[in-house]
Amino acid sequence: MTDSGTESGAPRWDGAGPRPLADRLLLDTWERASALAPVGRPLALLAAVWPDHGWERLAAEPLGRFTARLAGLRRSLVGDAVEAVASCPSCAGLVEVGFQLSLLSGSGSGGSAGSGGPDVGAVVGWESGAELSITAEGHEVRCRPVTTGDLLAVLGSADPASALLARCVTGAVRLGEPGEPGEPGAPGEPGAPGEAVPAGELPAGVRASVEEALAAADPHAEPLLGLDCPACDTQWWAPFDLGAFLWAEVERLALHTLGEVDVLARAYGWRESDILALGRIRRRRYLDLVRA
Ligand SMILES: [Zn+2]
Repeated sequence: MTDSGTESGAPRWDGAGPRPLADRLLLDTWERASALAPVGRPLALLAAVWPDHGWERLAAEPLGRFTARLAGLRRSLVGDAVEAVASCPSCAGLVEVGFQLSLLSGSGSGGSAGSGGPDVGAVVGWESGAELSITAEGHEVRCRPVTTGDLLAVLGSADPASALLARCVTGAVRLGEPGEPGEPGAPGEPGAPGEAVPAGELPAGVRASVEEALAAADPHAEPLLGLDCPACDTQWWAPFDLGAFLWAEVERLALHTLGEVDVLARAYGWRESDILALGRIRRRRYLDLVRA
């Protein structure tokens, strides 16, 4: 077997936009990402596909934008249709769910439908670096959207929700009229208007308002599925973790590809790099011949 040194079977990539997750890149990325915590694996996939963005920049993106990128990668790799299984919270029966990813994530296929590459038009949502200002219970709070980097940073924290809030609140001050001199809330005293309040000291109601406002501003951060159990008629909303779902698919693809390499290597004595360079169509033809 000759090796021309090119991945003849791999999709072409002209260096602009997302890079196709071709077999060799998929296997390399899968191997590296397997060693990471589950929340880091989707990030590793996107960093492989968007090499000019890099890990840091992708980790700093609001979750909605990040999810839209994952949806684009998933469409290019497997397609738009998703078949999943959920467990009914009432009867524990299994419920099959089928839906189009583009409808769920709000990331339509844009202008790049049919290009065969990852979906550039899929990147929507809150801009990186955007801030939100909310007023609740006598406090004004500035906050920024949750990112994948935040989720990674609070891993192992005793109180992840509070740690997440502390990272996303960029500033908080007390509002209202100053109190009488000598009283709490008087200028220069604790609780005075304009005094900065650490995120950890915000009242529970303010914290809840911040979390609500962040979720509303980034609605595609955690897509929800409306489910209906055919066995007991229970209806509920279930979050759809696209990152975990896509990772499981990437793992299946990687193991399937390794299985193909194994069969061809045994039959012909070819090296892994040669087999992957064949491309999927020719590889399947050789597999047919080996199995005939
Ligand atoms: Zn049920």
